[in-house]
Amino acid sequence: MEYISTRNNKKTFTFEDVFLKGLAPDGGLFIPKSLNKITKDKLKSFRNLSYQDLAQKIIFPFINNFMSESELSEIIKKSYSVFDRDNVVNLTNRNNALEIDILELFHGPTLAFKDIAMQLIGNFYEYNLKKKNKKINIIVATSGDTGAAAIDSIKGKKNMNIFVLHPYNKISIVQRKIMTTTKEKNVFNIAIKGNFDDCQNLVKSMFSDQDFSNSINMSGVNSINWARIIAQTVYYFYGYFQSEYAKGKLYEDPVNFSIPTGNFGDAYAGYLAKKMGLPINKLIIATNNNDILHRAISNGDYEVNKVFQTLSPSMDIQVASNFERLIYDINDFSDNETKKVMNEIKKTGKYKIPKDKIAKIKKNFLSASLNEEEMKKIMIKLSTAPGGEGIIVDPHTAIGLGAIIKVISENKDSEVNKFNTISLATAHPAKFPEAMKYVQGEVGFPEKLEHVMKEKENFNIMDNNIEVIKNYILKKI
Ligand SMILES: *Cc1c(COP(=O)(O)O)cnc(C)c1O
Repeated sequence: MEYISTRNNKKTFTFEDVFLKGLAPDGGLFIPKSLNKITKDKLKSFRNLSYQDLAQKIIFPFINNFMSESELSEIIKKSYSVFDRDNVVNLTNRNNALEIDILELFHGPTLAFKDIAMQLIGNFYEYNLKKKNKKINIIVATSGDTGAAAIDSIKGKKNMNIFVLHPYNKISIVQRKIMTTTKEKNVFNIAIKGNFDDCQNLVKSMFSDQDFSNSINMSGVNSINWARIIAQTVYYFYGYFQSEYAKGKLYEDPVNFSIPTGNFGDAYAGYLAKKMGLPINKLIIATNNNDILHRAISNGDYEVNKVFQTLSPSMDIQVASNFERLIYDINDFSDNETKKVMNEIKKTGKYKIPKDKIAKIKKNFLSASLNEEEMKKIMIKLSTAPGGEGIIVDPHTAIGLGAIIKVISENKDSEVNKFNTISLATAHPAKFPEAMKYVQGEVGFPEKLEHVMKEKENFNIMDNNIEVIKNYILKKI
C-alpha cells in the first residue's frame, strides 16, 4: 500500500515514512492512495477470529514491508498481553438501563481506549529503531489520555525519549498522576499554562520547524498518526461480530456506532472501517460543549470557538486534527481544494461547508452534543437502574450514549432507527473521580493503578512559549 498527503496526492510515501513522520512534509495528513475492500466472504471468514488474529488480518495490508506478517503477529500478541481481557475489548450486549450495546475499550494499562493503538505503536518503534539503529524523541500533546497511554508504551524502551505536554490543571487528577508518577528516565512531563489546543499548537510548531525537528529526530504519536487509526479500526470489526443484536442479521443489516469524539481520530477509524467494507450505517459523532464537529456535521459551521472545560476533558478540543482527512473526501479527493480549505481555516478560524458537501458527510455521519447536565443525567440513569443492575460509566462514555438517544429522537423517520447501535466506552470511570459524585454506587479503583495515587509526581509547569519548551527539550536529550 502506498500513501499520499491530503495536500499533495502525487507524491507517494511508504508506511515507514508515514509512521515515523506522523505529519506529511507539506503539512497535510497521510492517507492510503487506494484501499482494498474486504469482500463479504472475507468478512465472514474473520467472524470467529480472536481479537489478535483479527488485528493481524486487518493491519497487515496497511503496513506491507514494514515487517513480516509473523513479526506483526508476535508484536500484536505482546502488545495486547498487558490487557485485562484476553480479547482486549468487551461488548456488554445491552446489559444496562438504556439497553444499548456498549463496547468497552478501556481494559488496557492506563484505562482508556488510547492504549489499544499506543501499545502497538510503542512496539513498532522498538522494532524499527533496533533495525535502523536510530534514536528518536517523541513529543506529544495530550488532553489527558493519549499521554498516559504513550508513556506506558514507551517508558523504559531503548533509543526513545518521550515528552508529554498537558494543559495545566485542565485534566483529571487521576489522568495526571498516571503520567507523572512514572519513574523511567526517558519520560518527561510538561504542564503548559494553557488549554489542549495550545499544547497541540506547540507540538505542531515544533514539527514544522524543520531545523529543530530534524536536529532532535522528532517523532509524533498524536491522533493523526496513521498507525493509531488502523489499530483502532480493528475494534469496529470485532464489535460488529460480537453484537448479539446484529448477529441474527449479520452481513445483511448494518450497525451504527456512537463515538465520543474530540480529535476525530476514533471516529475516522470507524469511517475507515466502513470504507473497507464493514457494514456500518451511521457513525454518530458525540461531543460535549466543545461542539465544533456537531455544528459542522449538522449545519456546516466548522468554526473554532473558545474551549470550554468540562467533566469529559479528553474531548475539550476545538481543532479536530483528523477532520482534514474527511475534508479531503468531501472535496472530491482534491489536494488543491483541501489545501485551500485548510489555509482558510488557518486564516479565519472557520469553514462554511457547502450544502452539497454536508449531504456527503451526512451519508456516513450524524451528530449530537451534550451539555454537562445532560451528561450527568445519563450517568445517573445508568447507575440507579432498578434491581441492582446499575452500571457506572465515565463522562465520555455517557456522552456517546446520550448522543444515541438524541439522534434517535431527532431522526424519527430516518433509517438510523432501524439498526442496532453500538456505543464506544472510551475510558474507565475510575479515571474521572471528579464526576463520580453524581452517580450512585462506588467505582472500584483498579488495583493495577492504586500505586499512582500514593507516589510522588514529577512534572514541570511552563508558560505557553515555544522557545522555552524547545530549550527544555534540547537540555534533556
Ligand atoms: C481521546 C479520547 C476521546 C476522543 O477521541 P478522539 O480520537 O480524539 O476523537 C474520547 N474519550 C476518551 C476517554 C478519550 O481519551
